[in-house]
Amino acid sequence: MELADSELLRTSAYIDGAWADAHDGATFAVYDPATGVEVAQVANLGEKETQVAIEAANTALDDWRSRSAKERGAILHRWAELIRDHADDLATILSAEQGKPHREARGEIVYGTSFVDWFAEEAKRAYGETIPSPVADRRNIVVKQPIGVCVGITPWNFPSSMITRKVGPALAAGCTMVLKPAEQTPLSALALAELAERAGVPPGVFSVVTTDADGAPAVGRELTGNPLVRKLSFTGSTEVGKLLMAQCAAGVKKVSLELGGSAPYIVFDDADLDAAVGGLLGCKFRNAGQTCVSADRILVQDAVYDEFVERLTDAVSGLTPGPATGKADLGPLIDEQGLDKVRRHVEDAVSRGAKVIVGGSQPELGGTFFSPTVLTEVPRDALIMHEETFGPVAGLVRFRDEDDAVSIANDTSYGLAAYFFSRDVGRVWRMFERLEFGMVNANVGGMGNEAAPFGGVKESGIGREGSKYGLEEWLEIKSLTLGGLDD
Ligand code: NAP
Repeated sequence: MELADSELLRTSAYIDGAWADAHDGATFAVYDPATGVEVAQVANLGEKETQVAIEAANTALDDWRSRSAKERGAILHRWAELIRDHADDLATILSAEQGKPHREARGEIVYGTSFVDWFAEEAKRAYGETIPSPVADRRNIVVKQPIGVCVGITPWNFPSSMITRKVGPALAAGCTMVLKPAEQTPLSALALAELAERAGVPPGVFSVVTTDADGAPAVGRELTGNPLVRKLSFTGSTEVGKLLMAQCAAGVKKVSLELGGSAPYIVFDDADLDAAVGGLLGCKFRNAGQTCVSADRILVQDAVYDEFVERLTDAVSGLTPGPATGKADLGPLIDEQGLDKVRRHVEDAVSRGAKVIVGGSQPELGGTFFSPTVLTEVPRDALIMHEETFGPVAGLVRFRDEDDAVSIANDTSYGLAAYFFSRDVGRVWRMFERLEFGMVNANVGGMGNEAAPFGGVKESGIGREGSKYGLEEWLEIKSLTLGGLDD
């Protein structure tokens, strides 16, 4: 891997301000999903080392939370600046372990820093309140304080920004953090730790514990079970999120969960079809469809169905899969398991009557690449309509009217993102109110910025990242009743 700054490629874990190997020297391999070639061997830690990291976070807490928000913010701004300065190298590392095109990886790096900068400012505004007391000689006062030692567990699909979205607000609020990245993508996390150290984040304030998938349950039990930990912030599958939430229940730890989704993408007959097609290209094929807010159920109204299929087919035929370093529009799927799921969803839909219009199989590249695919006439009971596909497959379904669209869209246990296209202002407002999702998007296929709350309802999660609401996730409310004011 060619890097301008080779120090960014770290393979040891980062605990209490020092690079640490596993007690027994164990390592695990990280592979480039585009080639299957080994990229690095990374320290494979267990619960003992995790415990050390948590204790270091606890030791570091007093000094960190007692600094002013302005002082913590200055360090975080420096971190964001260093990340941007090294965006090319960080994108190279990210692409090598995750597979997305370099340009897209660079976009993720820069997007991730926006949360660090945002919360470096926002923490200065963690205002308290005075509340008029019903008792004449008393006053009620509320302050917001950092929760304490926090832990984060993050997935492989956004190996950098899912980390900055947690560590930025946690540290800004005055919490300390131990983070466990996914087995497939630890290198991006370690590079962020290297830059955090350079930015002046003190030892123990941010540690990264690396482990493979076999070790994740034991490390996860320590992270969720250690009594020093007060909060877990998890991004990943709903299945693992439920397990970790149950583990946290024993210690009544606060949880924030960013889980799976099954986004409806609704195109009404009065939509700007070019905008709807353009939006779908980003929403469905970015990161080869491996995003939680990916359009999974594309609902198109009868009157514009054929026209939409034609325009979408033209656009999708122009997308090229390939390795990150070339000019490809999308990379490979993360692993064989991911590829199997995408194949299974396509086969299932076809066996139930769907038609393959574009793609539908692997391109000549082989490996874990899958061709950008358009399926039409997908039946409502197909797997693709009920499970996350996590691949570049656009499955289209017809609908009759607004009620029909709402009923299909809400027929899911997920509630993360929803999209619809319509130019009728009354309908826009009705749809916004009726869709049971945490993030509704009208006439736009992309979303997510540091100023807007990101998160889901139903089984898609608890809590919000980004925005003024995102800071609250890392703060506790403490009240003071001040009495005896009378002479
Ligand atoms: P995953 O299997 O749930 O893994 C996520 C993280 O949890 C990884 O670090 C994984 O470690 C760890 N993990 C797995 N089992 C664990 C256990 N028993 N104890 C502790 N940690 C454990 O999810 P994924 O397949 O990596 O990611 C894709 C999922 O994330 C999708 O469902 C997607 O929708 C969701 N996602 C949601 C958002 C959002 O903001 N809502 C954003 C991105 C992704 P190992 O890798 O070592 O197994």
